[in-house]
Amino acid sequence: MASWKAKDSIVILGAGIIGLDVALVLVRKGLGPLITVVAEYLPGDTAPDYTSPWAGCNYSSISGSDANALRWDRLGYRHLLQLATQCSAESFVARTASTEIWDDVVPNDKIKIMSEYLENFSVMTPEQLPQGAAFGVTFNTITLHAPKHLQWLYTTLQAAGVTFVRRSVTDLPSAVSPDTKILFNCIGNAAMSFPGVKDAKCYPTRGQVLLVRAPGVKRNMMRYGNGYITYVIPRPLSNDQVILGGYLQKNVGDHATYDHETKDILKRTTALSTELASSNNGQGPEILGVASGLRPSREGGARVERTELVVGGKAIALVHNYGAGGTGYQAGYGMALDAVRKIEQMLPTQELTASL
Ligand SMILES: Cc1cc2nc3c(=O)[nH]c(=O)nc-3n(C[C@H](O)[C@H](O)[C@H](O)COP(=O)(O)OP(=O)(O)OC[C@H]3O[C@@H](n4cnc5c(N)ncnc54)[C@H](O)[C@@H]3O)c2cc1C
Repeated sequence: MASWKAKDSIVILGAGIIGLDVALVLVRKGLGPLITVVAEYLPGDTAPDYTSPWAGCNYSSISGSDANALRWDRLGYRHLLQLATQCSAESFVARTASTEIWDDVVPNDKIKIMSEYLENFSVMTPEQLPQGAAFGVTFNTITLHAPKHLQWLYTTLQAAGVTFVRRSVTDLPSAVSPDTKILFNCIGNAAMSFPGVKDAKCYPTRGQVLLVRAPGVKRNMMRYGNGYITYVIPRPLSNDQVILGGYLQKNVGDHATYDHETKDILKRTTALSTELASSNNGQGPEILGVASGLRPSREGGARVERTELVVGGKAIALVHNYGAGGTGYQAGYGMALDAVRKIEQMLPTQELTASL
């Protein structure tokens, strides 16, 4: 019982959105002083192997249609809507009008479920659809300024007693100490090759994005077509910055950016958004930066699963939580709720929590 006093009683390996959302769920249970986050990269860093700062970032229909994905989307939307309502300026999360359009394959069953909880949901009439489109919806989505949201989580979690340690570890046992009872594995793309994990279902999905300045772009726009995805995401609280994309290149782990992709993104996004095309007095968007990121994808969807890790003869509860693909922000909080539920009965009593 005494060892629940240790600051690394619970270790979270990884400080991307997935690890930070797990820490947030635990902090809301009063457990901050028992948590240490161990990671090579922390909020504020940029690195090819750290996906979270590169996200667009919004809630959209890009996620899978299986029961887990649908549940995580719903829980994530509720969580982010709460932040947008209660602390938008601090958390860099905003409620934003959105249009999503499909050229052909429409995920009808999924849209029906989403329509049950999305704010201001409406199906577009054929007259409202652009040329070549088969279906479209409008609703209130959530947009995030991804790097600033990570920073907000970082300071919020530290204020709640969470310890952060910058460290690259070579295997799962080296992430923990003799006091550790629970380890959350939130290592993103590293799950492909990390000793003790080596998940053959994992693969990267590359995307190139443009960061532009485009005053007047207030609406989030997504278009899904045969072999392409195009999006225009106004970045909240950013002085008119907008993220333009994109690509979903399965199994491509290339960090480079390409001029021909930049030109293609500009062509597709200005065709999709009249606000974007007419920004800067009709000159169109001013390019501030070009980047590429690797979504940590997984066949069959993300893995949220409890197993066991034996270190020095002692059993530690190990909860895997990775493979969020293109949905770490919209699904991360729901995944974190599931991950914490896996070890809920192990957590210290309310009495002990109150004394922390
Ligand atoms: C172009 C693009 C656009 C996107 N748009 C959206 C969007 O609009 N909405 C949305 O919800 N999602 C979006 N995503 C997806 C989202 O960014 C990812 O799902 C999410 O960032 C994955 O987070 P993660 O925590 O799993 O991984 P990461 O952010 O990569 O974090 C992994 C962590 O593990 C640590 N780590 C790994 N190996 C080790 C080791 N050996 N030792 C110590 N630490 C280690 C790393 O240092 C890091 O801290 C987008 C992604 C891209 C690339």
